[in-house]
Amino acid sequence: MTLLDREADVGAARTERVAERLRITEIFFSVQGESSRVGLPTVFVRLTGCPLRCVWCDTEYAFNGGAYRTIDDVVMEVARHGTPYVCVTGGEPLAQKSCLSLLGSLCDAGYDVSLETSGALDIGAVDARVSKIMDLKAPGSGECDKNLWSNLAHLTPRDELKLVLADEADYLWAREQLQAHRLVERCPVLFSPVQGSLKPADLAEWILRDKLAVRMQVQLHKVIWGNAQGR
Ligand code: SF4
Repeated sequence: MTLLDREADVGAARTERVAERLRITEIFFSVQGESSRVGLPTVFVRLTGCPLRCVWCDTEYAFNGGAYRTIDDVVMEVARHGTPYVCVTGGEPLAQKSCLSLLGSLCDAGYDVSLETSGALDIGAVDARVSKIMDLKAPGSGECDKNLWSNLAHLTPRDELKLVLADEADYLWAREQLQAHRLVERCPVLFSPVQGSLKPADLAEWILRDKLAVRMQVQLHKVIWGNAQGR
């Protein structure tokens, strides 16, 4: 195969990829409310659909509906916002196979890409340039049995683990997982209180009491805008 043939093949694969379609609930520009990227102006691409039903889910509107759009179209809309930071979220973005192509295309376009994922689906094929913000579902979510523990082996220091906690029982469970799976040695670990269920001050006191090497966070976008959709 000549160099020209190879370049033609790569070009054809890229053309095929950008023509793939995904069901999208919304694309919006806001302040990143979570993770180590908190506060950064970010474009959010929210994919439709999720196989889980966490009892405290705040994005139920993304379970259904949405509109099909090509990857090319999504990347062009992202570009209109003029920020280097893109967060692909859901729902559960990995529930759509073409999410992997979208992530690759956004990385190819030079963006700093993060992926918010439930931890219930395999993250092994996610582009290595993407920062994966992966949940571990605590018992209070009602979806603890969906945690795909083999995903832990795919985490690198550029990724983050997020544990959303509804009460003290969830906190004690999370503390146990930290030790059992040596989580802080894999990547930064975030503990968040479920809004309206666990007081942030209580969670802070427990983390300080137990001297855990985790980052506590509250959702900045909710502090600023409450529960408004598209924020
Ligand atoms: S995984 Fe996320 S989107 Fe799905 S039900 Fe749980 S919180 Fe909601």
